[in-house]
Amino acid sequence: MSHPKTTLHQDVWPFNPISLVNFLESYRKNNPTEDAEAYRAALVEAVSAKKSGAVCAQCGSPIWAIGTATVGWDGCFTCITGEADCSEDYEIDGVCF
Ligand SMILES: [Zn+2]
Repeated sequence: MSHPKTTLHQDVWPFNPISLVNFLESYRKNNPTEDAEAYRAALVEAVSAKKSGAVCAQCGSPIWAIGTATVGWDGCFTCITGEADCSEDYEIDGVCF
């Protein structure tokens, strides 16, 4: 049996993993005027798309589920934010790569 990916070494993950529930809680706090239910639906869809191998519309890297849900198009961290370092940002824990 080979194990191409390990979930034990968190330091190899580029993003900080966060659970969907915790992220949505902080989203509600930070964006009280936004439609949290609509955002939740978009995020669940983006997470599921990423699990299915969705890639950035601009460069072909794996999408950033949180960013994709926020901007409304399939994009990776770099293409959405214009920055290369995602170690200060979050991604949903099931798709944190
Ligand atoms: Zn990209």
